[in-house]
Amino acid sequence: MTDQQYDNSKKTILVVEDSKVFARILKTSVEANSEFRVVIAETYAELIALIESKKYTFFASLLDLNLPDAPDGEVVDYVLNYNIPAIVFTGKFDDDLRDRMLGKGIVDYVLKECPANIEYIVLLLKQLNRNTRIKALIVDDSRTARKHIKRLLSIYRFMVLEAENGKQAFDIAHEHKDIMLVITDFNMPQMDGFELTKKLRAIYSKQDMAIIGMSTYGNNLLSARFLKIGGSDFINKPFLEEEFFCRINQNMDLLGYIKELQFIASRDFLTGLYNRRHFFEVGEKLFNRAYKSKKQCIVALIDIDFFKRVNDTYGHDAGDVVLKKMGQLLNGSFRAGDLVARFGGEEFGFLLSNTSQEEAGSIFESLRARIEENPIQLSDNLILKITASIGVCTTLEENLESALTKADKLLYEAKKNGRNQVILG
Ligand code: GH3
Ligand code: MG
Ligand code: MG
Repeated sequence: MTDQQYDNSKKTILVVEDSKVFARILKTSVEANSEFRVVIAETYAELIALIESKKYTFFASLLDLNLPDAPDGEVVDYVLNYNIPAIVFTGKFDDDLRDRMLGKGIVDYVLKECPANIEYIVLLLKQLNRNTRIKALIVDDSRTARKHIKRLLSIYRFMVLEAENGKQAFDIAHEHKDIMLVITDFNMPQMDGFELTKKLRAIYSKQDMAIIGMSTYGNNLLSARFLKIGGSDFINKPFLEEEFFCRINQNMDLLGYIKELQFIASRDFLTGLYNRRHFFEVGEKLFNRAYKSKKQCIVALIDIDFFKRVNDTYGHDAGDVVLKKMGQLLNGSFRAGDLVARFGGEEFGFLLSNTSQEEAGSIFESLRARIEENPIQLSDNLILKITASIGVCTTLEENLESALTKADKLLYEAKKNGRNQVILG
């Protein structure tokens, strides 16, 4: 490892491993499949020197239990002492060693010989990284129980909040609207776990928040009842730490996959802008809300002029570059609450809430001018001038559909009138 290779923008993983071959495999796999950078120490002495040099802030560590100068897992205590999350790997594992290691507060242990375990390590590191952005709320009237769960969640790098009963938890959830994980006990004063779950579910869907029930008095009936009222999962106490982690991670993975799918389903693949489907889904709500309160809402359509010629002259790929650049320009031209979407082809739609006719006129005129004044660089010696025509509906239409029909007519007029212009109506 040389200093030149060290990239400060990436989180760093510490690997302590005396086998050069295995260390290299780990480094290659982790760096190829994640955003992490790996730094290797081959001996205990090298590890100490590395930590004491204070050159790196380590996000997590992968530790070999048997090193020539530390044959009995000494590195684990050393690393944990610096609050670096530790994943331990070893050639062999027995129950006794497993208990001893988990008792120290390591994240997990992994057997070395199986190549699939490297994939598992990469996944674990990604989960740890994701967890640093997740707020978890523990709800239990027992301080000891809260402390125990908090310790476990902290090992897994969650941001942890605590509440003594359902009522307090509900208040905290109101304050922190981004809580994604709630772990709740059932029998609690003021408001029990059932009541809390019902109240939370009235606000947060299963796609937004995982609620995991936990009880010593757990029986099948209790867990079934809990799951029916909207619980995401149920854990009986006492539990194995590994089961706890697996369930928490599975629940968080699921929320992550749903978010990813929602993201993909709402976007246009080429430009990264919202797609037509999302425009209507969100736009109709925005439009109807504005309509009811008689607030001005602007709906507009923009279409690139003679775009077919770009494809015909320079090829379809060049056309794609133009669309992407147009996407960037549009994305950077509007306020956060405005809706901008690619409708298909070279046509884009807009919905601006709370915008007056005059404002709309100047917004779209300056957009038109910006498109004309920013030619697109297709290659070193090919710069393409692009213009677009825009139709803007500024009247109070009954619904989004008719506002768009009107914007489309105005756009057609703009084309007929010679293109590269805005027509408001
Ligand atoms: P006008 O000024 O009247 O709007 O003429 P135009 O050539 O821009 O419009 P027309 O509708 O005739 O042609 C649009 C072209 O856009 C035809 C189609 O092949 C092309 N197109 C649609 N989607 C894509 C895409 O994703 N990538 C590329 N490169 N071209 C696309
Ligand atoms: Mg066109
Ligand atoms: Mg067209």
